[in-house]
Amino acid sequence: MPQKPQSTAKQLVLVGGGHSHAIVLKQLRAKPIPGLEIILISNTRFAPYSGMLPGHIAGFYSFEECHIDLEKLAKTTGIDFIVDEAVGLDLQKNLVFSTKSQPIKFDFLSVDIGSTPATLSVPGAAEYAISAKPVPQLLEKWKQLLTEILAQPQKHWHLAIVGGGAGGVELALALEAHLGKLIKNPHHLTLHLLHKQDEIMSSHSQWVRRCLTNILTNRGIQLHLNQAVSAIKKTSQKKIISCESGLEVECDEVFWVTQASAPAWLKEAGLTTDERGFILVNDKLQSLSHPQVFAAGDIASIINSPTPKAGVFAVRQGKPLYENLACVLQAKPLKPYQPQKQYLSLIGTGTGEAIASRGNWGFGPSQVLWWWKDWIDRRFMKGF
Ligand SMILES: Cc1cc2nc3c(=O)[nH]c(=O)nc-3n(C[C@H](O)[C@H](O)[C@H](O)COP(=O)(O)OP(=O)(O)OC[C@H]3O[C@@H](n4cnc5c(N)ncnc54)[C@H](O)[C@@H]3O)c2cc1C
Repeated sequence: MPQKPQSTAKQLVLVGGGHSHAIVLKQLRAKPIPGLEIILISNTRFAPYSGMLPGHIAGFYSFEECHIDLEKLAKTTGIDFIVDEAVGLDLQKNLVFSTKSQPIKFDFLSVDIGSTPATLSVPGAAEYAISAKPVPQLLEKWKQLLTEILAQPQKHWHLAIVGGGAGGVELALALEAHLGKLIKNPHHLTLHLLHKQDEIMSSHSQWVRRCLTNILTNRGIQLHLNQAVSAIKKTSQKKIISCESGLEVECDEVFWVTQASAPAWLKEAGLTTDERGFILVNDKLQSLSHPQVFAAGDIASIINSPTPKAGVFAVRQGKPLYENLACVLQAKPLKPYQPQKQYLSLIGTGTGEAIASRGNWGFGPSQVLWWWKDWIDRRFMKGF
């Protein structure tokens, strides 16, 4: 990044182009903050929108329809955009370190880098499984797999998904929906979903859990409950998933969609984090340890009001994050943000239907719910 002449403007650096930062940019475009220079650093130009990702894999949406072009968004907002990966911070000198650029100075920093499924504790997972995040790598591997399957449609394909939370279940249904169309003989495709608890989607109501269990089973997806994966090995032909129970599942590919984890460099920089390494913030989305740092989305953990790691919260935090960044830059008092206790999830089945889930309430599967979800998601993307 070329050195700029000294300026008196305050410097705001946004690290990560997640959902909250995309909304911050949209807000900045509508209501610019005077006397401010802003840089967005993202390791990808095209930021995936999580709400449409399973639909993309199921074949409903093109890449363009479910990705935000951050370069274009930054340009129309009038801010600098750098494609680079942040790897460290100096919180005494207020610098961001990245893989390619010179250290970048900031007065205020905001972090919205999402999370990745934890692989480190399971031997072989990082090497042999396809992690659901980062999404660009997931989509690249998915493209390769589609090419291989198209080249050998007569082969019996065995695929596994590890993790039975909402992401894993939606991914399993999306894979089945897409591959079921490619592999005409249903006996040539077996999908396994492994989950360490005795029921899938523990954060949803019993009705939703039962409804989705029935859908998975009816679609021929083999559910392996109470199975904690302990290792993944690779032979010349197959991948072998070993579970603590002794169960072994042989497959061609393994998708890894387990509990979210955070990169180590945030804690190493001295930021106060929770026990899983997520930045602890107050109800103003401001770091507990470093008031010049803000965080939102999956990477933030709000003290006393922890929220699920879901795109819906990252989206909701965008506006309060913008408002508090505007306040701190103008030395005005910050405003508290209260995450909603219950929220509506519309879970796609991959076949043009969706299930609604809110607290103890659930409804579906229904085509109308899918149309509603599709309308909400497309309207969200139109904003960019
Ligand atoms: C398969 C799957 C399906 C899901 N489906 C849904 C769903 O239907 N609905 C829902 O609400 N949630 C869903 N989720 C969860 C959802 O993806 C996350 O909660 C959501 O994306 C979090 O948004 P975010 O803004 O925190 O981060 P993200 O959307 O993950 O964005 C972070 C961005 O920062 C970039 N980045 C990361 N590290 C760096 C770095 N070091 N330097 C620079 N840039 C960086 C990333 O490339 C990314 O673009 C799903 C998750 C998975 C795995």
